[in-house]
Amino acid sequence: MSDHIRNTCPMLASPRCGAKTRSAGACRSPAVNGRQRCRMHGGAPGSDAPTANQNARKHGLFTRDAIAQRRQIQALLGEAQKLLEEMK
Ligand SMILES: [Zn+2]
Repeated sequence: MSDHIRNTCPMLASPRCGAKTRSAGACRSPAVNGRQRCRMHGGAPGSDAPTANQNARKHGLFTRDAIAQRRQIQALLGEAQKLLEEMK
């Protein structure tokens, strides 16, 4: 057996992944360079979302124009209802 002492200090001092594991503890694997997580928890290249939220689903149901249009339709329906009540 050799008496060589391994220098593992830089490896142990590297930033660690802090993802929550199934056993409720932190992951503790080394984080990928420039990332907060390890390769298994979202640190892998290409695993993050693109900038400007390009993956978000946009249906336009809550745009200013769509809300205004719904309000106009509701107002028109209310007026029609009043007219029908008066005609009774
Ligand atoms: Zn991890």
